[in-house]
Amino acid sequence: MKILFYSTKDFEQPYLETSNFRKEEIVFIKEALSLQTADKAKGFDTVSIFAGDDASSAVLEALHKNGVRFIAIRAAGYDNVDLKKATELGIVVANAPEYSPYAIAEHAVALILALNRKIIAADKQVHQQNFTTSNLVGFDLNRKTVGIIGVGKIGGVLVKIMHGFGCRLLGYDIQENKELKEKYGLEYVDLPALCREANIISIHTSLTPGTRYMINRKLIGLMQRGVMLINTGRGGCMNTQDVIEGLENGHIGSYGADVYENERGVFFYDHSGKELNDPMLKKLLSMPNVLTTPHQAFATQEALSNIAITTFDNIECWKNNKLSKNELTMPAWQRETANFSEYEEL
Ligand code: NAD
Repeated sequence: MKILFYSTKDFEQPYLETSNFRKEEIVFIKEALSLQTADKAKGFDTVSIFAGDDASSAVLEALHKNGVRFIAIRAAGYDNVDLKKATELGIVVANAPEYSPYAIAEHAVALILALNRKIIAADKQVHQQNFTTSNLVGFDLNRKTVGIIGVGKIGGVLVKIMHGFGCRLLGYDIQENKELKEKYGLEYVDLPALCREANIISIHTSLTPGTRYMINRKLIGLMQRGVMLINTGRGGCMNTQDVIEGLENGHIGSYGADVYENERGVFFYDHSGKELNDPMLKKLLSMPNVLTTPHQAFATQEALSNIAITTFDNIECWKNNKLSKNELTMPAWQRETANFSEYEEL
């Protein structure tokens, strides 16, 4: 297999090199996949992309014209890939669905704790030798109500962590997890009820047409005044303009986000010293009760290692004309009858 890795970040390249056990021919480039960079894939049968790459319909057509037949996503989310178009073109796509739900859930907790206990402000202040504490008052997490929207792999880990803090846990999902209800006291409620009751709301659904702008002015209006909102899922799950409005009128007390709806081309790059051409992001970055990280929740050693291993496992299956269990372009009937046992042995 000849594989082109788009959007390679310097910190992930060593993990990818180490996991290339079968010495496939690999090329790393820093550029993201887009209509402008699709021609770089000429001569490669496989490309590997990340969450910020553009694999929309026109880009997939360009890749297909260049001979690309496989796409290995180095991420769990795949909202950036037009799967219908890929299936039409016969391009096989797989993701890395379960590389470390801990990495993301723990990052959500880092945002909650840092916002609540005003860690960033405290650090800035002590560096100026200001050791007062009057602006640094937070609240106990114990006995607070945490609402988790999307209780899948990551949301499920967050349930377990917040249970350890002594929180009451509310969940909203299209499917219920019996174990989380029984062992951790998770109560499933509808979305308006979760918004009304939770002191902290964290979103962990995948981004789909059904979850785009799920958090909007109407739902924010139902939330408790001073609510803490956390987003480590996908930026598009929130209507950022409505969130800014909620922060400005004080309805939202604080906002912690690892993702942003217009992050493509901005996050993952160094723009220091340059003028940001995005008034909404500039507004968020100017607010003291907003804590933003640049889509780094996945960046733990364990997650990077698992992403790299899964990516090469997916590719190895295709090389051997086998199905990968992580294929997203596989029709449901084929998934039901597929035999993945050989995959497990790889
Ligand atoms: P998952 O598929 O295990 O969980 C998603 C959950 O959302 C599922 O339980 C699903 O039933 C639920 N859901 C889907 N549509 C819904 C709807 N309309 N209403 C209510 N619930 C709905 O996925 P996961 O591994 O937990 O990851 C969740 C998301 O986190 C990914 O899709 C990705 O976008 C994001 N993510 C972010 C980072 C990061 O670095 N910030 C890293 C990994 C994943």
